[in-house]
Amino acid sequence: MARIEILTIGDELLDGRLVDSNAGWMSSRLADAGLEVARHTSVGDRDDELITVLREAAGRSDAVLVSGGLGPTSDDRTAACAARAFGRGIVRHAEAFAHTESFFASRGREMPVSNAKQADLPDGCELLPNPHGTACGFRLDADGCRLYFLPGVPRELEAMVADHVLPDLRDRIAAEPLRIATLKVFGVGESDVAQRLEGDEPLVAPSGDLTVQYRATFPEIHVRLVLRGGYDDTLDRLRHEAARRIGRHVFAVGGARCDRSFADVVVAELEAAHATVAVAEDLVAGGVGALLAESADARHVVLGGELHPEPLGAAPALARDVRLRHGATVGVAVLPGPEPDGFRAAVSTESGGQERAMRFPVEPDHLRRLAAYVALTLVRRALADPGDA
Ligand code: ATP
Ligand code: MG
Repeated sequence: MARIEILTIGDELLDGRLVDSNAGWMSSRLADAGLEVARHTSVGDRDDELITVLREAAGRSDAVLVSGGLGPTSDDRTAACAARAFGRGIVRHAEAFAHTESFFASRGREMPVSNAKQADLPDGCELLPNPHGTACGFRLDADGCRLYFLPGVPRELEAMVADHVLPDLRDRIAAEPLRIATLKVFGVGESDVAQRLEGDEPLVAPSGDLTVQYRATFPEIHVRLVLRGGYDDTLDRLRHEAARRIGRHVFAVGGARCDRSFADVVVAELEAAHATVAVAEDLVAGGVGALLAESADARHVVLGGELHPEPLGAAPALARDVRLRHGATVGVAVLPGPEPDGFRAAVSTESGGQERAMRFPVEPDHLRRLAAYVALTLVRRALADPGDA
């Protein structure tokens, strides 16, 4: 497996003025192409740090993607440092000079003297054209490593990675393909999921090398099965087995990305059942309407709702009431209490109803979101098994 690193440059990354989105963006594009990133590093605009880090990264990796510091100002030191790091001279690159000059000409402006510096590049590098900016990128082979130097401006960098870096990397690095499946889970804790997948009987991949990754985005848990090597049907079998073990708590399954949201799933299930929903919720404890609205199709299934400024009555009665008043298939109610940090959720259908009370010590917005998930999970159960409701 080839080793790839990402290096981002700029004082503003280190002092907190700027969040490093370039590293994350490049990593996700590489992951989409089945290429794994071994390390992210950030350095400020200091020659000694930058030179050291360039040498270290080149010494241990097959490819390094570098962002930032190609501009015309005095703090843009990347090309000079790259030359020093690898014992190259700096030469004025005629093609890069012409690029910068024509960039200004095409906008009816004369090139400032300082911009000429952007054409001073390490000897023996290959240019990477930048259609959106003044600074060309460049590619340099050193210590058996290929380094790609890219501008820091995200729009410029993104075009250059897509057009030049990825195709070149794919040609050079015969990646062992990564096969990725995602399972989205609600209703069971992260450690419980891990126990089911990797506890006493860990999932095993008959071919390839399996890693299980977890990410919590409250109140969901996303599980990724990452199979290095192996076959498509190996991944299919693993995904199937993982879904079986986690059971009904899995609400969506996908590939490397799974764009189906919890709201999408609930709304699709309501549509499939030709069912509609009406919601009554407490101003503070509720959140069902907002959660449903995360699905673009929510308006097809939501008949109406009401917001209660004060806690009132019992959830089951309220759910029934709102269902009848709006003529919906399912009524949903969420109320606070009975204890602090608690909520009550209820659903009502023609054949009955169900209530769930829970306490959970989290901030109010998390509690609201959890209450909405619990309420809509009751809706899903009522649809799946009307007799159960
Ligand atoms: P320029 O020619 O514009 O100076 P450059 O290659 O010198 O480009 P930098 O000076 O390092 O790039 O950064 C230019 C701008 O790009 C920054 O002010 C910032 O807005 C953005 N930028 C730089 N690095 C990153 C990063 N890692 N993530 C997100 N944005 C970044
Ligand atoms: Mg700059």
